[in-house]
Amino acid sequence: MRVSTGRVTGSDGRMFTVVVESFGVGRQRRAERVLTVPFERLQSLMQTIALQGGRIRVLSSTDLEPTATPATTATPPADAASPAANAAPTSSSTAKAPVSHADVPVNLYKPKAPFLGTVTGNYSLLADGAIGRVNHITFDLAGGDPQLHYVEGQSIGIIPDGEDANGKPHKLRLYSIASTRHGDDLADHTVSLCVRQLQYEKDGETINGVCSTFLCDIEPGAKVKITGPVGKEMLLPDDEEANVIMLATGTGIAPMRTYLRRMFEPAERDKNGWHFRGKAWLFMGAPKTANLLYDDDFNRYQAEFPENFRYTKAISREEQNAKGGRMYIQDRVLENAEEIFSWIENPKTHVYMCGLRGMEPGIDEAMSAAATAKGLDWATLRPQLKKAERWHVETY
Ligand SMILES: Cc1cc2nc3c(=O)[nH]c(=O)nc-3n(C[C@H](O)[C@H](O)[C@H](O)COP(=O)(O)OP(=O)(O)OC[C@H]3O[C@@H](n4cnc5c(N)ncnc54)[C@H](O)[C@@H]3O)c2cc1C
Repeated sequence: MRVSTGRVTGSDGRMFTVVVESFGVGRQRRAERVLTVPFERLQSLMQTIALQGGRIRVLSSTDLEPTATPATTATPPADAASPAANAAPTSSSTAKAPVSHADVPVNLYKPKAPFLGTVTGNYSLLADGAIGRVNHITFDLAGGDPQLHYVEGQSIGIIPDGEDANGKPHKLRLYSIASTRHGDDLADHTVSLCVRQLQYEKDGETINGVCSTFLCDIEPGAKVKITGPVGKEMLLPDDEEANVIMLATGTGIAPMRTYLRRMFEPAERDKNGWHFRGKAWLFMGAPKTANLLYDDDFNRYQAEFPENFRYTKAISREEQNAKGGRMYIQDRVLENAEEIFSWIENPKTHVYMCGLRGMEPGIDEAMSAAATAKGLDWATLRPQLKKAERWHVETY
């Protein structure tokens, strides 16, 4: 809704009552809330409601008749000072609630009694000349009681065979799920992962990560201990008109692949009946072109859905940023700052970040600079987006 501002032009001691839904966190978000604020605080409240995707039911002031409004996403007063405050939803329809977290399966299998999945495929995702080793590995989950199922954005645990240096069974490692809930073959009983083998040098010796090496080496037919699923941080909103910005480096692409398959892979779309009509924008960082993961699929989605999908790559060892240095994902964020923020101002936009923990400061810096250019304060905005469940981060 757009609030008439004709009479709201100065500090006059009036109080405003705002009845709002889908605002706040947890239980608060599910209940209708009545907030009373003085004129001075109305603008910032409207801004916060807009950023959190809240819907205003009624707005009234001490000298205005209460106005019942249809459920609609908040748009702050037109004279609001900052660009974010002028955010308006791009669609007239009401945003659907995000996935109900209560319906998301969690810990169907625990470390003490894991599910034994069977490897059905294991192949390299890298092209010739790539750095390192990254594999796509699929497990059959059929036959479990309960059936191990999951939704896009979750992770599973893998317990590698063997024992640690103390003779104890290895602990589980988490991996982001790279397949949609229907599985790559749409048979509803497989899960796929995208695993990079951890390798580093110590005292002149090459050390291989325990679980990542176990997975990259595994042969079809092998049985693997699987736990989970876990995680509610990276769930996709249900809204078919949501906008989704994805920031991924390396295997951080795994959850993004699940979102993009759910949105754009024809057979998956037929199966899931979820008719995504919003916009998706993937920023992918890799050291070399040969290290881009699932690149052919994403190029195809971009060709087939040019109105809905943008794919922006940052290839650090092959491209240069504006300062002549290596091109990292944060440089691409800065280059596209204006547009990224105009997306973020729309309450239907969610941002997802996944990859190595080291990517966070660079992205934060870029978002901060981009926000400043728009007259916004990222340090204030980010917690608001997080509270509104629109800023999703999973780094490791
Ligand atoms: C939520 C979540 C999702 C994840 N998703 C994925 C995914 O999709 N794909 C993926 O590949 N991984 C993912 N990971 C990481 C994964 O869980 C493992 O941490 C990773 O595979 C390494 O495990 P490992 O058993 O091979 O290594 P380990 O044998 O456990 O070795 C790791 C340890 O080695 C040491 N180490 C690591 N690097 C160095 C270094 N350079 N110098 C010195 N010591 C070092 C550190 O002590 C580190 O704890 C995810 C992690 C989390 C938490």
